[in-house]
Amino acid sequence: MDNSALKVLIVEDEVKLARFVELELKHEGYEVIVANDGRSALEKFEEEAPKIILLDLMLPGLSGIEVCRRIRKTSDVPIIMITAKGEVMDKVMGLDNGADDYITKPFAIEEVLARMRVALKHKRTSAAAEGEKKLTVKDLTLDLGKRTVKLGEHNIDLTKREFDLLAYLIKNKNIVISREQILNKVWGYDYFGETNIVDVYVRYLRTKIDDKYNEKFIHTIRGVGYYVKDDEE
Ligand code: CA
Repeated sequence: MDNSALKVLIVEDEVKLARFVELELKHEGYEVIVANDGRSALEKFEEEAPKIILLDLMLPGLSGIEVCRRIRKTSDVPIIMITAKGEVMDKVMGLDNGADDYITKPFAIEEVLARMRVALKHKRTSAAAEGEKKLTVKDLTLDLGKRTVKLGEHNIDLTKREFDLLAYLIKNKNIVISREQILNKVWGYDYFGETNIVDVYVRYLRTKIDDKYNEKFIHTIRGVGYYVKDDEE
């Protein structure tokens, strides 16, 4: 495999070990960035957009677990934790906080390379599966890969946010979803605006779909939230 386009971020405070792994990965053709603590790991992650991360959990200051948690808020980049022997709780916490795999110190470089290949392959496979996925309810079809919407033969133009909102409601069809749940999932936890933004976007969707094609897709449960109804289930 040609690794030249693949940028790896190594987060490790043991400078000698970081250097050793860096040289081995460069030898394999990877492009390598090194961070020696949690803060600089987050900075380098933002600046360099690595394709995979090797993350030591025992770091001074900001812990590896915290680094993992913060990166997972915005990214599904593969993260392989590096843990000390016997630190079972570290492994559990790391996996709970979104790490994909772990390697225990001391390790052979061949094991690191093998686990990196697996994590990268898994990432590609799941991205491809997501790319082919379609959501349907009645005559409405959302293509999640192409991000297109069709009602029967009609193409419907939606903005990114409208599309994400409709996709989320259809993924959970026949379940009533509260405004807060919608805000968290579609707008993200960092959204601090008015919750009535959800009502505004539901109105946009109704204008573009329900009103135009005289079909009721999005239903309101007053004081609770919204749902998309599919009679066939
Ligand atoms: Ca360490």
